[in-house]
Amino acid sequence: MVIIIHGGAGKIENFKKRKGIMAKVCELGYEILKNNGSALDAVERAVVELEDSPWFNAGTGATLSIEGEVELDAAIMSDDLRAGAVACIKEVKNPILVARKVMEETDHIILSGEGAVRFARLMGFPKYNLVTQRRKRMLEKGIKKLKEDKPLEYLPGLKKLMDKYSESEGFHLPTEKYGTVGACAIDKEGKLAAATSTGGMFMHLPGRIGDTPIIGAGNYACDSGAISCTGHGECIIKLCLAKTVCDAMKSMKAQEAINLALKLANQYNCKCGLIGIDKKGNVGFGFNTPQMLWAYIRNGKIEVE
Ligand code: ASP
Repeated sequence: MVIIIHGGAGKIENFKKRKGIMAKVCELGYEILKNNGSALDAVERAVVELEDSPWFNAGTGATLSIEGEVELDAAIMSDDLRAGAVACIKEVKNPILVARKVMEETDHIILSGEGAVRFARLMGFPKYNLVTQRRKRMLEKGIKKLKEDKPLEYLPGLKKLMDKYSESEGFHLPTEKYGTVGACAIDKEGKLAAATSTGGMFMHLPGRIGDTPIIGAGNYACDSGAISCTGHGECIIKLCLAKTVCDAMKSMKAQEAINLALKLANQYNCKCGLIGIDKKGNVGFGFNTPQMLWAYIRNGKIEVE
């Protein structure tokens, strides 16, 4: 039984505080495995906890779009290739739980936007306001900064489009770029699962969908392993990063497969972080950003950074 989680890659503020939360969440996920729970239940539990913490870019406290709204992506998958995802869903406390419902209650894999919200309500998830004061303050700062005409690292095309969005709705420029959350686990029966949840890239355009809900891009599980990614979503989609690692795990350990994927990512200047578990229960993680929050429990022993 193994669980590994991440809390996003990038330049991370309040690293110590978030590290403490990561350790607690990892224990909670592991508890599920210890009590004969499935890998799916363990990754879901860990991601729900991280979504509920305002310290991560997922669920409560997720980053805002340029129009000041929270739009969430989430995906969950098990090694038998069952998968469910929501893209650009709004006003739902735990998108990962809706993604699980998509997997278990529908004939589809991804539901997006208004349809995803309607499905969530049908499944009994009430309307929930995800905009926090902290993110609002960032929005105010961002409006000020944007007026100073500064180019944005991952959104070079935004300036051209900016004027087309009504300024009255506001723009924001958060100081931190990442903070997506994810988990991979292998249970007593050797079954694998992966789950990932995010508020997306800072200052994204309304309607933008990142790598997280795209099966094989930001999240994937198959009989060779389970993977969750974080980082620059557009680039992760182009490289089908999670599936690439899973394919590599057919013939190598999780860490070697992740190292290979990072080599590929570097070739394309794709800033990202990955966590994974192979079918033998070996863990792997890596990133090419300044930092990444991760924690895992293997053989009952916790490692956290
Ligand atoms: N990968 C996420 C996205 O592009 C962002 C992140 O990992 O922080 O939506």
